[in-house]
Amino acid sequence: MYDPKSLKAEEFISHEEILETLSYAEKNKNNKELVRAILDKAKERKGLPHREASVLLACEDPEVIAEMYDLAEQIKKDFYGNRIVMFAPLYLSNYCVNGCVYCPYHAKNKHIARKKLTQDEIVKEVTALQDMGHKRLAIESGEDPINNPIEYILESIRTIYSIKHRNGAIRRVNVNIAATTVENYRKLKEAGIGTYILFQETYHKESYEKLHPTGPKHNYAYHTEAMDRAMEGGIDDVGLGVLFGLELYKYEFAGLLMHAEHLEAVHGVGPHTISVPRIKRADDIDPSAFDNGIDDDTFAKICALIRISVPYTGMIISTRESKSVREKVIRLGVSQISGASRTSVGGYCEPEPEDDNSAQFDVSDNRTLDEVVHWLMDMKYIPSFCTACYREGRTGDRFMSLCKAGQIQNCCHPNALMTLKEYLMDYASPDTRKIGEALIQSELQNIPKEKVREICADHLEKIEEGIRDFRF
Ligand code: SF4
Ligand code: SF4
Repeated sequence: MYDPKSLKAEEFISHEEILETLSYAEKNKNNKELVRAILDKAKERKGLPHREASVLLACEDPEVIAEMYDLAEQIKKDFYGNRIVMFAPLYLSNYCVNGCVYCPYHAKNKHIARKKLTQDEIVKEVTALQDMGHKRLAIESGEDPINNPIEYILESIRTIYSIKHRNGAIRRVNVNIAATTVENYRKLKEAGIGTYILFQETYHKESYEKLHPTGPKHNYAYHTEAMDRAMEGGIDDVGLGVLFGLELYKYEFAGLLMHAEHLEAVHGVGPHTISVPRIKRADDIDPSAFDNGIDDDTFAKICALIRISVPYTGMIISTRESKSVREKVIRLGVSQISGASRTSVGGYCEPEPEDDNSAQFDVSDNRTLDEVVHWLMDMKYIPSFCTACYREGRTGDRFMSLCKAGQIQNCCHPNALMTLKEYLMDYASPDTRKIGEALIQSELQNIPKEKVREICADHLEKIEEGIRDFRF
């Protein structure tokens, strides 16, 4: 029985409810009156429930799709302005006891190089990341209680926060590790993590069990209920995601929104972020072996509809996607992107030799961070290295209520400008710096409150003098 308030995976992600949603969407996709009513409701910018959003996803009318894209773009502008938050992944270890059939780290893969960073290696990697200009990391690790116990993850987080190279600092560490216990989530919270990210991979239980034939991840309920345990452990910013390509995308889309509705219903706060990875080629993995792959247009439609359905949830896209796909979906709602990523264990300090490959997937966007920053600014976006909310304690419902009141805008814009200024001063190439300085000057005028504008201008001057880390 479907119940968004239940704490049982099979009740808040009810298979029957998803099937009914898909059949409702299919039946109504050409119901002009209903589609119109849903679009009008979406224009109120309060989001859409899974059933209504699924009708829009099923709708193939080009005019309606164009209207969805326009609306997604407008919501993106209203909630996130022209800022794009930057981050980088850091793979700590690819030892893994699970058997996920789509991931090269699965336990049976004997030809991938297995690596685990020592604390000294983490220092080197993080120093290299700081020297590029990164301030926000997402750490990733396989599941292996012997090689990567929680103590190793906690120690690594402490190491990362302790490194201060030149003007560099990692100010927010998000964590993407396997589903774990309330006690371990509490420890992660105490270690000062930002968002806890866990991809569901697929919400379809039967497929999930086939795709995860062995290891602790095989347990669908334990995995699906992880966010509730994370919340119970005090982590109030959680990040959802599915791996598009494993199951039918319409099924996943409904499941994703139901998961978001569940978190809101039970904990009063929806997901902080949603990631939208698509399956990629990797060692031992051929994406064509999975027959649910989605083309770029469908992918764009999904991104636009996530933006419309959960306006307050950040959307993340990685370097799995090419520059051109990234260009398209940034416009439609993506608010965070990774730049200059290495998907191997280590590899920032020194690139991996080709015969010693530990990468989780092939990267499609191989540009440097400076090139990505330059490219964003050419498109009039402001690359932001902001981490202010988490450091000011604006997490979970505090973040959401500010966001819903439209107040977050008063912080994000000046924070983006100040952190971009730090980047330009400390890491940018001369050309990137030149266009960045011009962008900051023109964007300064777009801070509505005069007082905030003045303070921001003053901070920008102080950054020029060498002082760092201002924030609203
Ligand atoms: S997806 Fe995660 S849990 Fe599965 S094999 Fe890869 S690293 Fe291990
Ligand atoms: S002020 Fe908060 S919401 Fe805005 S960019 Fe910074 S961390 Fe994100």
